[in-house]
Amino acid sequence: MMTETRTLSVVVSVYNEEQALPLFYETAKPILDGLDWDYELLFVNDGSTDGSMACLRRLAAQDKKVKVVAFSRNFGHEAAMIAGIDHASGDGIVCMDADLQHPPECLPEILKKLEEGCGVISMVRTKNKSAGLLKNITSAGFYAVINALSDVKFEPNASDFFAVSRQAAQVLRTNYREKVRFLRGYVQNIGFEKATIQYEARDRVAGESKYSIRKLFSFSMNTILCFSNLPLKLGIYAGVFAGLLGVIVMIYTLFTRKGAPSGYATIVILICFMFAILFLIVGIIGEYIAILFSELKDRPVYVVEETENIEKDIER
Ligand code: UDP
Ligand code: MG
Repeated sequence: MMTETRTLSVVVSVYNEEQALPLFYETAKPILDGLDWDYELLFVNDGSTDGSMACLRRLAAQDKKVKVVAFSRNFGHEAAMIAGIDHASGDGIVCMDADLQHPPECLPEILKKLEEGCGVISMVRTKNKSAGLLKNITSAGFYAVINALSDVKFEPNASDFFAVSRQAAQVLRTNYREKVRFLRGYVQNIGFEKATIQYEARDRVAGESKYSIRKLFSFSMNTILCFSNLPLKLGIYAGVFAGLLGVIVMIYTLFTRKGAPSGYATIVILICFMFAILFLIVGIIGEYIAILFSELKDRPVYVVEETENIEKDIER
């Protein structure tokens, strides 16, 4: 059926992974060599400050299938993934982490789905032992909130381990070029025939996680704001609520106006309560303005400083 061999691009984001990289390469290489498809192993060095770049240069020198895109500084995991997709030349693209939490053993199964014509393959983790209880609970909470607030649907437990066809990747290259990004969200909402594959997330082989709970929280906040306008409508609900309360207070005041000026406590409570709601809403509007501002500035999502084994130099 297949006339020529197709190529798989494996995109791996790297940030200070000097310990994990050799292990990743040694594990992935034999699996990649055993595939029916040709492949390229595309590492995106996200401004690592350790020996990662030296290691990548070494791998690229000894293995032409290893390609490297290096950023001028750390731009974050989201930027690294999209840079990998931008520079990948394959008929199918898989994004994965360098710490072997995303098992390369899943690649044959992914290829099968790509061959069946799937455009988007989400890898859903069954267990995340290494993440710890707090991360698992906050992750579940995040998905519950975003699915309630957003009209697009998110697969809970979906990870940054996923695959897209050439056609789907093209959509990500030309559209969805937002600055405040959530690639997983775009991937799940561009359509195409979808498939999910379960995998068991392993422990990180070496080094440590680069995502702190604080970083995850601000990331989650931004994602919710980018995928939902509902918080903006809070102002309308609060306004209606305050209006109704106003009518009740007005009637009450009319009926009790004969007595002395009582109701001091009522006034204080009302003012505090109303201001609290008001400031909360102003804060939410501020968050949206911050996102608008960063989109308007139109700064690059990433800046490439160096590439290895890549002919074309695309920069966005
Ligand atoms: N990563 C990156 N840039 C960053 C932070 C992380 O490219 O600013 C990479 C990191 O090297 C790893 C992947 O993104 O390959 C996932 O990061 P990590 O394993 O630290 O996150 P966790 O799996 O703990 O959520
Ligand atoms: Mg990890």
